Amino acid sequence: MEPAEIKFDHYFTFDEMESFLKLMASRYPDIAQLSSAGKSGEGRDIWVVTLTDRRTGDPDEKPGTYIDGNFHAGEVTGSMINLYAIKYILENYGKEERITKLLQHNALYVIPRVSPDGAEVYLTTPETLRSAPRPYPFPNPDELEGLYPADVDGDGHILMMRVKDDTGEWKVSPKDPRAMVRRAPDEEEGTFYRVYVEGFLREHDGGAIKNAPSKWGLDFNRNFPYGWVPEVEQAGAGEFPLSEPETRAVAEFVVNHPNISLALTYHTTGGVILRVPGAHSSKQSPRQDIQSLIAIGEMGAEETGYPCVPCYEEFYGGGDGFSRGAFDDWLFDHRGILAYTVETWNLAQRSGIHQFPAREKSVQEQEEDYLKMLAWNDRELAGRGFENWRPFDHPQLGEVEIGGWHVKYVIQNAPHRFLEAECHKNTMFIIRAAATLPRLVIDDVDCRALGDNVYEVSALVKNVGFLPTYGSHRALELNKARPVTAELYAYNHENQAQGAVDVEVIGKAKQEIGHLDGRSGSTSAFSYWSPRSSKDERIKKVSWIIKGKPGTEIGIRVKGERAGCVTKTVKLE
Ligand SMILES: [Zn+2]
Repeated sequence: MEPAEIKFDHYFTFDEMESFLKLMASRYPDIAQLSSAGKSGEGRDIWVVTLTDRRTGDPDEKPGTYIDGNFHAGEVTGSMINLYAIKYILENYGKEERITKLLQHNALYVIPRVSPDGAEVYLTTPETLRSAPRPYPFPNPDELEGLYPADVDGDGHILMMRVKDDTGEWKVSPKDPRAMVRRAPDEEEGTFYRVYVEGFLREHDGGAIKNAPSKWGLDFNRNFPYGWVPEVEQAGAGEFPLSEPETRAVAEFVVNHPNISLALTYHTTGGVILRVPGAHSSKQSPRQDIQSLIAIGEMGAEETGYPCVPCYEEFYGGGDGFSRGAFDDWLFDHRGILAYTVETWNLAQRSGIHQFPAREKSVQEQEEDYLKMLAWNDRELAGRGFENWRPFDHPQLGEVEIGGWHVKYVIQNAPHRFLEAECHKNTMFIIRAAATLPRLVIDDVDCRALGDNVYEVSALVKNVGFLPTYGSHRALELNKARPVTAELYAYNHENQAQGAVDVEVIGKAKQEIGHLDGRSGSTSAFSYWSPRSSKDERIKKVSWIIKGKPGTEIGIRVKGERAGCVTKTVKLE
């Protein structure tokens, strides 16, 4: 298959994704590298694609951005965005200046499918699930009483069932027979319904129908160490932090790449870019980091049309309802990595419904919203996103009606014809976000002869990037960003071999020069009357006193754990 034949008009199964990744890696050996971060519970590889121009340096010695998708099994749009980004970046290297530069100076680590086992179930069966198809928290979920989701009528989908019931809280909307609206508190005349997921009952005595607990209740995004609490306090938490092979693999990958300063984890749905922190107020985080997150998030909003909102304050409403053990909180609060959870695709938004700022809606507003979504479905999908209610003789419940939204590729993920556009705009954000990392430059290299073969070699070290060389203030607090060093090394012009300094350095050849700020430290609005000078230190002067033969060429190497590595040469004269 040729890359040009690969179309983002459907969701890739694991095999399809794997051959796509192998094709990309073999087609672009200098700038793409495929490796495995570990194995899933069922033994599938958790693939990582490293994007960088290896001819300009080792990826792990460049500022790194981490990107992933499909943390949640059914959120396959995230996976496709990752794959599209890989393809777009590789195909435009050498064509688009900003991408060429990006891969020369930076490394991008992409894990397109964190949950390969779960995604496979989601893509190839009628089932939906949160993370992995493993029994949890009940070891024998097939014995749990209640209603469990199943494709009752054998049409390949798990939809909804509406059942006539005089205790029901729903009625059919007089405006559209597909829509269900809430029965008024005093309403007595009419036909009322209860609505359930399409499924069968285990151990039903004819009384109230309750849902059986989920058989696959794990949630990878609640299994991380920051703020982790057990299942009774947080559904899906797992037995202990990083108890799952997939979360463990991702965490180890991040820990083993201390050059990462920025992360984008791709989910659905919401049409919103959530910025950390999610587990506590932004006021409890370094102000400078919040400013960086806002500034980068604004570019995301520009590219995607999704607002960038503070996760704790706006998504969780600042209450106690926040998720514990989330990946992005661990990235930020334990690793000092600026992180976004991007919730892509939102049917409601598409239909013209406003959701942010979030608020409780009245029954009338809810009905209007529902009708707007149905109208969008009729207009854009020729009505195919919603299955009209049709009578069915349920073996346990008798006469029911089955119908409702085709949740998987209408609600939870972008419908096929909208997928590529979703991938493209998010890729534009990925490219811009990755370009905000620190970038070291060695400038104004000077050599001054002091006599007697003694010279003073000096240079300016600059950070021309947006983020500081420490990535985030949180990283400094956590001691997760070693300071920048500047050193002299012997430079042999014949073979460019690097070895011991063949000149005598009076003092240390390797100097620790601390950190350099980026532009992120000053994001205040422009003032016409009083230009504000910031305390930022974006440039530092380094110098060495050395003794050596005139004409000797030596190298200067400047390196930061999160800021990459740059070199320049100077001739003693
Ligand atoms: Zn998710």
